[in-house]
Amino acid sequence: MSKYITTPIYYVNGEAHIGHAYTTFIADTMARYERLKGEDTFFLTGTDEHGQKIEESAVKAGKQTQEFADEISAKFKNLWDEFGISYDKFIRTTDEAHMKGVQKAFEVMVAKGDIYKDFYEGHYCVSCETFFPETQLVDGEFCPDCGRTTSVVKEESYFFKLSKYEDRLLEHYEANPEFIMPKSRASEVVNFVKGGLRDLSVTRTSFSWGVKMPKSIGDDKHVMYVWLDALLNYVTALGYGTDEAQMDYWPADVHFVGKDILRFHAIYWPAFLMSLDLPLPKHIGAHGWWTRDGEKMSKSKGNVVSPKEVADAYGVENLRYFMLREVPFGQDGDFSQRAFIDRINSELSNDLGNLLNRIIGMSGKYSDFVIDSKDVEKYHAKELAKMNEVLDSLDVFMENLQTHRYLEELWRLFAIGNGVIQEYEPWVKMKNNQEDEALATVALVANILARAAVMLHPVMPETTKTIADALSFEISQESYQELVIDKKLLKLFNIKKVPPLFPRIEEPLMAEAPKAEPNPPKEEKKEEKSPKNEDNLIEIGQFFETSLKVGTVVEAEEVPKSKKLLKLQVDLGEEKPRQVVAGIKEFYSAGDLVNTQVCVVANLKPAKLMGMMSEGMLLAAKDEDGLCLIRPEKPKKAGTPIG
Ligand SMILES: [Zn+2]
Repeated sequence: MSKYITTPIYYVNGEAHIGHAYTTFIADTMARYERLKGEDTFFLTGTDEHGQKIEESAVKAGKQTQEFADEISAKFKNLWDEFGISYDKFIRTTDEAHMKGVQKAFEVMVAKGDIYKDFYEGHYCVSCETFFPETQLVDGEFCPDCGRTTSVVKEESYFFKLSKYEDRLLEHYEANPEFIMPKSRASEVVNFVKGGLRDLSVTRTSFSWGVKMPKSIGDDKHVMYVWLDALLNYVTALGYGTDEAQMDYWPADVHFVGKDILRFHAIYWPAFLMSLDLPLPKHIGAHGWWTRDGEKMSKSKGNVVSPKEVADAYGVENLRYFMLREVPFGQDGDFSQRAFIDRINSELSNDLGNLLNRIIGMSGKYSDFVIDSKDVEKYHAKELAKMNEVLDSLDVFMENLQTHRYLEELWRLFAIGNGVIQEYEPWVKMKNNQEDEALATVALVANILARAAVMLHPVMPETTKTIADALSFEISQESYQELVIDKKLLKLFNIKKVPPLFPRIEEPLMAEAPKAEPNPPKEEKKEEKSPKNEDNLIEIGQFFETSLKVGTVVEAEEVPKSKKLLKLQVDLGEEKPRQVVAGIKEFYSAGDLVNTQVCVVANLKPAKLMGMMSEGMLLAAKDEDGLCLIRPEKPKKAGTPIG
């Protein structure tokens, strides 16, 4: 038997955030778990690099498109390497073999009669690379996802006969209730398909950064549409359409995806595979999103959690543990330092770390760091049975992707270990000439720790190696078989001292996220009522609650149908320019503004104006003669604070 586990390929339009890290951790954990069980496992991750958005981002960054994609792709790969992610292949959609595989797939679909040429006309959002039906547009013209203006695009396109597969898809969901995990997500997919599937436009002529048409089709102006290209990575990674070298791993056991791309994986992808006469993946595992301190993360709020920053502060394995323990698979999770630190201190440090330390300490004191298991069965048959029951219960949780239940259940082992020490008090027995009994208890706990380390290994690969090292055994497929399946005891331990694995954390190690709302409403009310405040005087601190910055307008355009609004992209010295929608069209033309400087209120809550996000406000003064912008007297670097 072999196993094939994938993450989505990550889009190279930005850097990895904590959601990417979560998908990658859970896939890595699953891959490690299967390998531990002796399964021949292939674990794939990679980057999605085609499409108009990448082409445009590269231009903005002043780079060649390939160079730009190379850089961002390398950032993902380096981060996963730094995090010790055990992928077998890192695929890039710009890989030659992938592109050949996509062309091959297209030819097969053509031969199958599933591709035809027609015209596509629709409301297209460049940013989202998506056509939207008129009914979904905001105010008849704005993208429902990003708020940007859509444009009506009519272009020649090849279509995939998605509608042809409607019935087969519904049959498949019906016959395979675990195809979509968690099952609670299946109904949204089923209902979507039942609502009727339209054929899918799968090529574009409006940009060129994509996989070219196969030569046999001879229609050079078309490139593959991004989903056809991207989804096929799961088979081209195994050599589909080229050497087919690893196609034995197909079908995939689990495609891990975020819930936002479930539809593409649960509808388009199986339909493509049906067209290619390939078997369908066994499971699509759709996970939820992460918030920070209960709030949606966004760049404009400045509260995006960088996985690198957390890993640098707390250790990557603690982060893995937290994320996999905190949230039931499929549901949204919340990252807060408080909850994170609590789990480290109580579960990792107290339950696990202290137990190991006590065993190291007792073995040193009582038996010169040698632990013999000869009397464990004699004195602790009851606890052994309990331990084995826990071990047998674990597999089903992992196979159902319920890592939080898996870890919760696994922690019962430490409860047994800590409980038995408290109950049998080996230190008392040592004094009362019951040495055999005391040492049997220590040996029982050492065996519990060894089993727990094996089962925790997929989640915390390095930490558990240290535990195994302290207990003088190795975590491997063999020790999994002996300790977990055959329930054998380790006969003899030569205990090694190790430094505490999880030092208690007293204070947060990272800066807290900026508060979304400037503090307590109570005070504001008080001030409103305060008679002393008649002159509207404020404290200097109140002034500095407003973040004012110098910005450079890099782009400006009119908002169609609006008399007042201009849409600007303003560089504030951040990773990318902010979109600011400003009511200044009567006084400034778009062209006048580009490359000029403005003063921006930078910490306003983002607002939607005519369906467009605005992430800042320009300072301006208006009297009966009209409006003028407030600008720095001399050019200043973009992002310079004003105060
Ligand atoms: Zn959009």
